[in-house]
Amino acid sequence: AGGAGVAAISDAPRPWVPRPPGALPGKAFLAACARCGQCVKACPYDTLRLAAIGDPAPIGTPYFTPRDIPCYMCADIPCVKACPTGALDPELDDIAKARMGVAVVDPASCLSTQGLRCEVCLRECPETGKALTLEMHPRGLSRHTIFVPTVHPDACTGCGLCEKSCPTDKPAIRVVDPDAVLGAIGKHYRLSWLPSDDPKNLREEVPEEKTPSSEEAGGLDYLNENIL
Ligand code: SF4
Ligand code: SF4
Ligand code: SF4
Repeated sequence: AGGAGVAAISDAPRPWVPRPPGALPGKAFLAACARCGQCVKACPYDTLRLAAIGDPAPIGTPYFTPRDIPCYMCADIPCVKACPTGALDPELDDIAKARMGVAVVDPASCLSTQGLRCEVCLRECPETGKALTLEMHPRGLSRHTIFVPTVHPDACTGCGLCEKSCPTDKPAIRVVDPDAVLGAIGKHYRLSWLPSDDPKNLREEVPEEKTPSSEEAGGLDYLNENIL
């Protein structure tokens, strides 16, 4: 019965948790991580902890809880350097390229989106202007404008500094599993207002079609036969 209990604990689906920077994806991380805690020891901010019984991650694996202590995005990434197994990818040499998760905003509880001026998350975001921007939305027919914090997943590292700093009772911005929230637009859509999708630019890539001469066209020429 004890064995079944252990299996039940280890096989149960677990909530997603942010891993340290450079963590290999999913099961590859679990297979490579030696549960040695070297990354935890190396972190100067005590961001990381090894999961214990009852925590939301498999026992002994490192994770963090952004609302408690986010990742402060150390430029020298000591946690990755300390990892002896490559479970934290040693190729990660720029912390801005880390993808620990992605932030999402709950518009119903975001003070700025409700019309107040807050924007604390924008001031705290280490990648502000790239990962997090403020978009102006006119409010109906009034003269007020709403300033909406907007996450750009291609630059968001998932550090959680926004989640930590949000002043609402429960954070209106949180770091979540990118696989749970990000879609994919599909290659057949063209956003022609973007330089990359502008038909003028696309046309340059297509080799110009050569119009065949009447001689090359061949089969049409009999229509002109005997015409003076
Ligand atoms: S980058 Fe720095 S703050 Fe973030 S987990 Fe690694 S050591 Fe800790
Ligand atoms: S800190 Fe929170 S409430 Fe303030 S703008 Fe950001 S998400 Fe909205
Ligand atoms: S998690 Fe928040 S603070 Fe960190 S990069 Fe993304 S938007 Fe900025």
